[in-house]
Amino acid sequence: MPLKPPVHNPHPHMTRKHRDDAYNRARADAEVTRWRNGKRWKMVRRLTLERDRGLCQECKRAGVTRAAQQVHHLTPAHLCSYGQFHYLPGLESICTACHGRESARERRS
Ligand SMILES: [Zn+2]
Repeated sequence: MPLKPPVHNPHPHMTRKHRDDAYNRARADAEVTRWRNGKRWKMVRRLTLERDRGLCQECKRAGVTRAAQQVHHLTPAHLCSYGQFHYLPGLESICTACHGRESARERRS
């Protein structure tokens, strides 16, 4: 009786869904990197900082005045469509400390 040829499965512990998720995540990350380098993002980023007067909005809510260095996506960037990614109301100026905290929270969720 002929044997079935072995199936290539480098990560047998991974389900199909895990592999799909990993693939989609990597694809989304590459797309986000491309968008971040785009002319449209540079413009939207500048407009967000201007709108927020260069202040961290997260610190502002806590009653602290601190300069923002980053622009944060309220919807995690890798989940954004091209339109959402560049949508001003979905963006917030934020300082490096707050951005680090936000990013860590997103990675956990
Ligand atoms: Zn802050």
